[in-house]
Parts: sequence; C-alpha cells; structure tokens
Amino acid sequence: MSKDSQAPLKHASPDGKPRHTFPGLALRTVPVLVPMPAERPYSYAVPDGMMVVPGSIVRVPLGPREVAGIVTAGETDSVDAKKLRPISEVFDCPPIEPQMLRFVQWAADYTLSPPGMVARMLLRVPTAFDPEPPIPGLRYAGVKPDRLTEARSRIMELAEDGMAWTRSGLAHAAGVSLTVVDGLKAQGVFEEVMIPPRPVVAAPDIDYARADLSPDQQAAADMLVENVGRQGFSVSLLDGVTGSGKTEVYFEAVAKAIEDGRQVLILLPEIALTQQFLDRFHDRFGAKPAEWHSDLAPKMRERVWRQVAEGQVRVVAGARSALFLPFRELGLIVVDEEHDPAYKQEDRVFYNARDMAVVRGHIGGFPVVLASATPSIESQVNAEQGRYQRIRLAARYAEAAMPDLKTIDMRRSPPPPGKFLSPVLTGAIAKTLERKEQALLFLNRRGYAPLTLCRVCGHRFQCPSCSSWLVEHRFRGQLMCHQCGYHEPTPHACPECGTLDHLVACGPGVERIAEETAAAFPDARIIVLSSDLLGGVKRLRLELEAIAKGEADIVIGTQLVAKGHNFPDMTLVGVVDADLGLANGDPRAAERTFQLLNQVTGRAGRTGRKSIGLLQTYQPDHPVMRAIVSGDADAFYAREIEERERAGLPPFGRLAALIVSANTRGEAESHARALRRAAPSSSEIAVLGPAEAPLALIRGRHRFRLLVHGTKRADIQAFIRTLLAAGPKERGSVRVQVDIDPQSFL
Ligand code: ADP
Ligand code: ZN
Repeated sequence: MSKDSQAPLKHASPDGKPRHTFPGLALRTVPVLVPMPAERPYSYAVPDGMMVVPGSIVRVPLGPREVAGIVTAGETDSVDAKKLRPISEVFDCPPIEPQMLRFVQWAADYTLSPPGMVARMLLRVPTAFDPEPPIPGLRYAGVKPDRLTEARSRIMELAEDGMAWTRSGLAHAAGVSLTVVDGLKAQGVFEEVMIPPRPVVAAPDIDYARADLSPDQQAAADMLVENVGRQGFSVSLLDGVTGSGKTEVYFEAVAKAIEDGRQVLILLPEIALTQQFLDRFHDRFGAKPAEWHSDLAPKMRERVWRQVAEGQVRVVAGARSALFLPFRELGLIVVDEEHDPAYKQEDRVFYNARDMAVVRGHIGGFPVVLASATPSIESQVNAEQGRYQRIRLAARYAEAAMPDLKTIDMRRSPPPPGKFLSPVLTGAIAKTLERKEQALLFLNRRGYAPLTLCRVCGHRFQCPSCSSWLVEHRFRGQLMCHQCGYHEPTPHACPECGTLDHLVACGPGVERIAEETAAAFPDARIIVLSSDLLGGVKRLRLELEAIAKGEADIVIGTQLVAKGHNFPDMTLVGVVDADLGLANGDPRAAERTFQLLNQVTGRAGRTGRKSIGLLQTYQPDHPVMRAIVSGDADAFYAREIEERERAGLPPFGRLAALIVSANTRGEAESHARALRRAAPSSSEIAVLGPAEAPLALIRGRHRFRLLVHGTKRADIQAFIRTLLAAGPKERGSVRVQVDIDPQSFL
C-alpha cells in the first residue's frame, strides 16, 4: 500500500466538525462518491468489523436502490447521524489508487462536473468489482485408465503432462466426445481442480522483435526512453510526417515503461478500427495490448477493467474513456493523433482526453507522449514555449516519399453537369487503375445527398426535431437525420404540394460518388466505407484488411479511412470537396481542415511508389490549400498561431461555452439571458451572447449559447461557478451544459 492511502481520512462528522479517523481502525463514517450528479460524496456508516480505505469500492444504499461507490478521502456533506446508512459491502477489488482519486476530483473541478459523474465513468463495469470466478477443470491424477481405447489414448496424450484442462476443452482438443472424458473421470484418472481465469491478453515481451530504427528514429526513441527512465512528469510532442514511423518510435518508450514495471496506456482516436495497430503491437511485443472502447463486449470490458486494476494487464490501447481505467502503476501515456477531435467527449462530462492525459501524467509523475503529423495549435504553442519537448521526424521511413499534392480548381475544370468529379480527377483515377494501383476518394459526408428538395414547390426535407436537413441514404431507401437518427422511407411525392417524382437530391455524399465512379469505371472493384456500413466494427475491420491486401481498386470513404491505416497499393488520394470543413465559421475550421487533408492525403504512397493527392476546391488560394500543396506546414501554423494570439483565442486566452437548452425556444432564450445578467463583473473575462446555436434545434431541444472568453490567466471556472450560483437554477425543461475549451461551436 502506498503512503498516501494510509493518510488519515478527514471528513465532516455529523456535528459538522472535522474528525480524523484511520483506515481499518475506528472508522465510523466515510465519504463515498456515488455515480450520480452529486456535488460531494455522501457519508456512510462503516459497520463493525468492516475494513475500508480511501479508494475502496463499496456497495451502498442510495434511495431505494443500491449502487457501487468509491470511498474517498475528501469532505462529505454534513449529515444527520441518525440518517446515516451503513455500507452494505466492500467489494473484493483492489482499491482505486490515490492518484486516480485525485485525478477524478481534478477532472470534476476543471470541467465543472459533479465528481460523482466523473466517478461514474470509472464505475461503469458492474460485475468487475467481484473477482472473476475460477473455472472448474480436470487434471491427470496419476492413475492409469483401466483399458486404453484409441479415443482414450488421445486424451491421455494431452493430459499426461499434468496441466489442467476444462472438460470440454480436453474433449475438443482430443477430438472425442464428452462421455469419453467423463468415463475416465469416473475411474479417478482425473481430479477436479479450479483453473484461474485466463488473462485477457498475454504479457508483452519487450525483446520479442526490436525494430531496426533509422538514425533519426533512434534519436527520437532515445529521448522518449530517457524520459521514461527518469520517471518524472514530462510531455513530449512527437511531431513527424505521416509514415515517418512515430508508432515504431513510441513503442520503444512503451518497452522501457514495461521493463520498469509500469503499466502503459496508448490512446487512439478510432480504436475500433485499428486492427492494424493491434497487429503491429503484436509484431513488436509478441502479444496484443488489451483493448478498451465502446464496442467491446460487456463481459470483455469487465475482464479488462478487473485485470487492469489487478495489474495483470500491462498495456491498454483504448479510446478516450480508457483514461478512467483503474491503473495501479501507470507509468506512461501515449496519445496518438493528439490533434484528433474524437478525443473530445461532448456528453455529460465534457472533456478533452488529450488534455486530461497530460493532467493524469502530472498527477502521477510520469511522461506523456503526444504524437501527430499535424499537432493541434495548443500543442504547437506549448512546444514553442518550451513547456513540451518537441521531437521531430522530418522524413518518411525508408524510400517512401510524400505524395505529390495539387489542387484542382473546380472553376476551371468543372465536373460534367450533375456530376461531382472533375475530369482531372477521373483522368488520374484511370491512370491509377491502369497501373493496377489503388485510389481513395475522400468525402466527409455519409449517405447519398445532404439535401432533398421538391422541384415544384421548393419544399426541403427537414428533421422534425432538429434544425438539420434530412440526408438521403439511397442504399437503405431512407431519409435520415444525422443529429438524432430520425429516419423515414424516401417518399415519392412531395408532402407539401403532393407532386409525384419531382424530388431532387442536392449535393454529394459517399454513396453518390460511388454511383458516379461505378458508372465511369464499370470494371473497377469499389468499396464504400462509412459508419453506415452494415455489420459494424467487425465488418469495417474486414473491409480495411481487404483494402490493404489489394482487394479493391477504388475506395470511397468518410474520415473513417483517413486515420492511421497503411494501404500499400494506394497511390492516389482524391479529396472530393476540400472546402467542406471551411464553411462553418468555426475558429478551428482552418486547422481542422488542414489536419484532415494532411491525414487523408498521407494515406498515399506509404510504400515507396510515386503517389499523388488531388484536392478539388473552389478556393485554391485559401491558406489551407496553399499550405497543403506547398508542404509548408510551418508557415501555416505560424499564421494560425498569430491569428489566435491576436484574437486572444486558446491557447492565448480561455474559452468556455454554456449551452442552454429547453423544450421551447422562449424558455431557452430567457434562461440564457438571465444567466448572462448574472455574470459577475470582471476585467479579465467577458460573456458573449446569448446567441441561438448554429444547430438551434437538436432532438426537439431549442439551444442558445453563451461564450465565456477570458485572458490566459483568468480563472474561468470560478467565474462560471459564480455565474451559475447567482443565475436562475435549472427548472422545468431547462438544462445548462458547461463546455470548457469547446472544440465545436455548433
Ligand atoms: P506514422 O505513425 O508516423 O504515420 P508508422 O509508424 O505507421 O508512421 O510507419 C509507417 C510505415 O513504415 C509502417 O508500415 C511501418 O511499419 C514502417 N516503418 C517505420 N519505421 C520502420 C522501421 N524502423 N523498420 C521497419 N518498418 C518501419
Ligand atoms: Zn433530427
């Protein structure tokens, strides 16, 4: 047990005076953080003979139910001693580390979330708190069978080494029926034993296949390894072009941490799609890392959680929520593609996992590695100002060269009427197919067409509960809302004027590009990849594998295909609408577009063949297009950083959004106005708005936004706390969400 967890517990006693108690001694009441929106832990009585320490996971009554909670070392609300209910049970589970408890509290304070809601993210594995039961098995007891049939000798061959087998496992391996096993058991050939639960993954072997690093890669790896060896907090920005081998490099840091007996967390933006990553990890370490993401089967989730808590799992590769796994001895976090917007959670607790990873490293006193070919502006500035150590990989590994990038000016080379691909792009696709290489067409839009309207009356199909157009999904024969999932069969008649068969699809989605491509290249094998693919993650993984093996000629996809994959035969990347992300007026639009275009064009030419990237744009002179084409990322960043600095936007200033939603527009607006009036006066912080959110209606909820803009030094959290305390409380259908460091301005 670490020194911290033996510190006396300090919490409010029923009479309100602080009292010190010692774990395992006369501990009468303890604060317990329960998974609900409570501002503070609740007090519970500890029954005689029960031992709890800060971090213990306990079952406690809460209203009419029982829930799992965490004993904390913090303060409780003041309570009436008579009302205090006892803890029902302490789970047989390693206590949550003091570091992790501090992290939960910190995350709650920073995001202005009730700590109970942060704890809830940690506790969402109900049956993991009890140890996994051992599995009943059989072991050779040293007694020979009375008579050896062929089936029996096959069993004996397997069992004679004295290892334990499950009954069915043994029968299956020997290729005999269960009755043969049972017959031997009845003779006393086998004894019954309990087999401990199997680890979810084998232990990584750091010497399994050490990579042969280039001198640049080796220098970068050495720096990271040194940071891990020093064991203190540090942040390194591993900044290397796509294909430079960042993964190989940070694997060396992972190896060092494993060697030093620490656990490692690798965060990935799209873990469900990163079969290739898991395979590469396996190639390097002879075992896979444990996976953690929302597509994991519930039983598997629980086993991973438990084995992380017990320290059996040494390396986790996971989505952002893996930050809230109960590591015992975490010693390194790698955040791959650190700029990726998928790291931001915008649901209940709004947090950015990249920023939280840095905090976790700070609290735990260990290194954090942020890897990206296109770092976020925030990380760029941190590196420039010396808070992060910048480690650069300037070239692609081996003979792979960066793709040759060009814009296609859509004003000068427009597509044929009703089509979306310029002849320049279709010409390049044709050449690629002739060479038996692969082309990727990227369009970040699901479905067939983003808008459907009636040619007669002009009616536009809109979601009944959101302010967004319905997207036609021709393959499914449906109009769908991408905000709330509402869908209806695509009608033949206009609901407004009743005219039949005069509906037009406006603009392209991936399905429409697939249709156009199939017409132009009827013999090509075409795969369309988006999150609409039936069959979920498993199917996506298979399709990605098939593409990597060369089983498609043209791949048409949304950003799902942009991330992290290596497609050896891919030599052409065409971006159907490079301007798409620039339109929405978001302060991060240019940065995001630059990152996405860089990432998607980076799929081309990863194995040494000459490759090109073509961007269809109406604004070839836009700074983003120029930066991509010239490859001069530094100039682009310098300009963006300057602009942010001038406007006092993050990281030079602080931003938070308050999103007020309600069932009626009037309620939402008046509540937002009242909040605005409640803002304390401050020379450091200004409140802007309220303004109707760009997505003014989502799931029937009307939305208004206030923007809180402060200087870099401003305590924006304290300001918002004061504002919320002074303003009207949430009532009726009104809800207020706080989004610190907003990523999205919708
Ligand atoms: P990044 O993450 O920087 O885009 P990767 O780590 O995916 O780059 O590497 C790109 C490709 O080059 C991968 O296929 C990888 O296996 C290969 N590669 C990089 N470095 C080495 C190395 N030192 N030895 C062998 N292959 C390497
Ligand atoms: Zn909707």
